[in-house]
Amino acid sequence: MSWQRDGDVWISPETGARWVPTIGLEVHAQLSTKTKLFCGCEVSFGAPPNTRTCPVCTGQPGALPVLNAGVLDLAVRAAIALGAEVARETHFDRKNYFYCDLPKNFQTSQYDHPFCSGGGVKLSSGTFIRLNRIHMEEDAGKTMHTDAGSLVDLNRTGVPLIESVTEADLSSPEDAYEYLTRFREVLQFAGVSTADMEKGELRCDVNVSVRPEGEEGLRTKVEVKNLNSFRHVQASLEHEIPRQVAAYEAEGEGAVVQETRLYDPEREETRTMRVKEGESDYRYFPCPDLPKLHLSEALIEEQRALLPELPEARRARYQAELGLSEYDAGVLTGSRDTADYFEEAAERSGDAKAAANWVSNELLRALGAGELEAGSLRELSLRPSDLSLVIEKAASGELHSKGARELVRECLRTGAGVDETIQALGLDEVIDDSELEGWCREALEANPRVREEVLAGKDKALGACIGPVMKASGGKADPKRITEVLKGLIEGGS
Ligand SMILES: [Zn+2]
Repeated sequence: MSWQRDGDVWISPETGARWVPTIGLEVHAQLSTKTKLFCGCEVSFGAPPNTRTCPVCTGQPGALPVLNAGVLDLAVRAAIALGAEVARETHFDRKNYFYCDLPKNFQTSQYDHPFCSGGGVKLSSGTFIRLNRIHMEEDAGKTMHTDAGSLVDLNRTGVPLIESVTEADLSSPEDAYEYLTRFREVLQFAGVSTADMEKGELRCDVNVSVRPEGEEGLRTKVEVKNLNSFRHVQASLEHEIPRQVAAYEAEGEGAVVQETRLYDPEREETRTMRVKEGESDYRYFPCPDLPKLHLSEALIEEQRALLPELPEARRARYQAELGLSEYDAGVLTGSRDTADYFEEAAERSGDAKAAANWVSNELLRALGAGELEAGSLRELSLRPSDLSLVIEKAASGELHSKGARELVRECLRTGAGVDETIQALGLDEVIDDSELEGWCREALEANPRVREEVLAGKDKALGACIGPVMKASGGKADPKRITEVLKGLIEGGS
């Protein structure tokens, strides 16, 4: 049975009743440090199992944690980027539970004094999604269940994370998706996390409840855990919301219990994982091995100074100051790498629109099509300075648009420099004037109206002859020179 939606309201196909979901998100993001939170072990994705461990992160008796100062720097920068209030005093707590991939039997996390609170993310609709808090914590290890038994890899144990918790401000699966996109963007631009979901650097839990439209207060919320893609977050909500509504309609209030569910993308359903623990089950207490942290004004200001302009501000500036469309501004802020590349090319060439076109139509297209060895703009041998050279040559008429495109594609393919490639492609060959004149005569003969129009003062009509001459020259003639020759022939009466 299909569900009708009216904005954020879900209309039951059974009863026609109107239901509203309330959604909150918890996102774990891995901070981009070289080493773990409390030891010197390297953070390395894909390393052989249990090769990035030491007595500290495997919880050996007597081993003591030492805070990685780099973690604090990045966490504070993330907080500032998200507009949160950084606490001046904070500490770590132990969250106690037993699992085979948690050798200490507690996770070092933060409970009642997280390092920051507040802040949030604005959606394109203007809705502001408030953050309740962000805290630092260490990751647990990874358990793989195989036919031969369960295997534990402790390489991830102790990897630094920030966990952010929103208020229940979201009201649709689409908003949840957009929130995550914007949130990730901020972390990436701020340089605090690469937030690569395929490497498990960003993981998401969803809290969702439903209630009849107009009902005061919230009903029981259900948590859907360990979602590792934004699509899965959206899809899990699209299944969980109707499931809860159907349960209430079939069994009345009390039909939905507070629990943790897992989303199964293959069967497109959520199912019970465990009935949720309360906070008291974890018996949090301040970690006696780690001193209280005092966050100085100097540290906070230092991180604030390191923050680049964030994506939302860049999009606004690209439209207001550079005259780009909303769409182009969105494409160019798809990653910090893209935005920085574009800005450098725009600044050097003085032509933002041309730079925007080259970056989105040629460079991003080629990267997206997998035509290049490079995986990102940063890895391209064609640097923004090279691109600006191409833009300048095209603007001066030294290169025509087709030649310029050919040049850029060849540079991308071979990794060779711009000038070198111009020579290799023969784009610098000088066309003999008598040869050019011959082509121009042919073009004028084929388009007799051009002569009349130009004599009547409409120079624009010359355009019809430039293409054919260009073609005849194999793309090497200079359009400016063609124009001069054509005008000379017409005005000379020949
Ligand atoms: Zn270690």
